[in-house]
Amino acid sequence: MFLQSRAAHTIQSHAVTKEPLPIASGLSALPNKMLGRSLLIATISSKSYLLVPCLKLLSFLSKPGGSRLLSVDKNPFIHAILRKTFYDQFCAGETRKDTVSTIKGLKDMGFRGVIMTFAKETVFDHRTKTEHGVGEALLINKEKGLPVESVNTQNADIDTWRKGTLETIDLLEGTDYLAVKLTGAGPTVTAAFADQIPLPKQMTDALDEIATKCQQRDVRILVDAESQRFQWGILDTTLNLMRKFNRSDRAIIYNTYQAYLKSTASTIQKHMEAASKENFTLGLKLVRGAYINSDERSLIHDTKEDTDSAYNTIALGALKQEIGKYGGDGLPFPKVNLFLASHNKPSVLAAHALHQSRIQVGLPTVPVGFGQLQGMSDEVSFGLLALKQKDGQTPEVYKCSTWGSMSECLAYLLRRAVENRDAVSRTGDELNALRSEAWRRMKGMFISP
Ligand SMILES: Cc1cc2nc3c(=O)[nH]c(=O)nc-3n(C[C@H](O)[C@H](O)[C@H](O)COP(=O)(O)OP(=O)(O)OC[C@H]3O[C@@H](n4cnc5c(N)ncnc54)[C@H](O)[C@@H]3O)c2cc1C
Repeated sequence: MFLQSRAAHTIQSHAVTKEPLPIASGLSALPNKMLGRSLLIATISSKSYLLVPCLKLLSFLSKPGGSRLLSVDKNPFIHAILRKTFYDQFCAGETRKDTVSTIKGLKDMGFRGVIMTFAKETVFDHRTKTEHGVGEALLINKEKGLPVESVNTQNADIDTWRKGTLETIDLLEGTDYLAVKLTGAGPTVTAAFADQIPLPKQMTDALDEIATKCQQRDVRILVDAESQRFQWGILDTTLNLMRKFNRSDRAIIYNTYQAYLKSTASTIQKHMEAASKENFTLGLKLVRGAYINSDERSLIHDTKEDTDSAYNTIALGALKQEIGKYGGDGLPFPKVNLFLASHNKPSVLAAHALHQSRIQVGLPTVPVGFGQLQGMSDEVSFGLLALKQKDGQTPEVYKCSTWGSMSECLAYLLRRAVENRDAVSRTGDELNALRSEAWRRMKGMFISP
């Protein structure tokens, strides 16, 4: 609450909720092939009579146990169609070689790096009280903790998750981020998160191994925020990793904070307090939040405007080094590295403008990176890249992607399609921007200079 009121005037001054600041149309940097595919996907996404059957088809194909004829990995016809459309739009590659080549392509276009995810996860549906994802939910007695057999025996789900994550790190280098969904490690881990009891040692060892490997390769880790049922456990686990690995000014580990949650302002305060007292760098990745359709609604801000305001208040507050009782005339601001994951043009442009204006006049600020999903909001990503900074560099912009076989990535693809359906006005804006760019190129072919 305090945090919100404090930076409220800043938001007004940056006109975040009004017209977006001018942005250079960066889509001219998009190769023709990608422009054509983006146009196709944006057209499908903005017309419900096209998107609904596509969603039904993707949902049908993603169900396990279907016949060989309908297998996305085994039927070459289905595989080729999906590959050339949805898969190539949103995913990095089915093999390591393809993925490395996509990452190189993105960096050649000016992106500072990628955020690569290993796409397994478990989602808890608050309405049906069921878990969807890796394995059957585990029922445990909170007093007794995890069942002895699940702690003492090697757990296959944790091992698969660990191996997939370590393999993903091998594809990355110093400017990249690894994104991890901790619920991908299966029911023993989600049960521990849900009841806030200690994780099995196999999982804490896996996290240690993953963080150490990333630290050695200079790759940073964004721990994703997930369903509310698991999120308190995820936040605590990640805070402990930050305590251990964020001992220099550059954060290796980031927690993700969901601005749509009413509790987030006070969570950030508590984590800043820990960073301040224990002298570690707080990795603060900020998102609006992706689980509004499955999480308990009363925990989430009542309106989109409230979520927007919370997001901008935290983002601009961090950049001004003034959040709650920290900064300004209050307590010294702890070390914070900020990562703004968002497709919202006014939010990211206001943050970038504030960051630059503070550097220009020598006022303190924090390092900031920006991230959008591969295949989405290219206008925002390329628009940011087109903005020159005072130091002559481009802003740090990253594309977030996943890799793996078609069947492994289908759930991820389905979520992207649903997100596009839910972001009707943004998808419409994107389609218009892509059409204008296609039209500009066509005119250029016929009108000689
Ligand atoms: C690189 C990247 C990483 C991400 N990582 C995560 C993650 O770890 N965890 C996670 O949860 N999400 C994650 N997201 C998704 C993110 O939380 C948003 O769902 C998504 O980016 C859309 O929000 P936006 O900021 O782009 O802006 P917009 O499209 O302007 O905002 C849409 C968002 O506003 C909020 N909203 C919409 N309607 C209402 C309403 N009536 N009341 C209150 N709030 C409302 C919802 O959060 C919705 O997703 C990530 C997104 C990106 C780009």
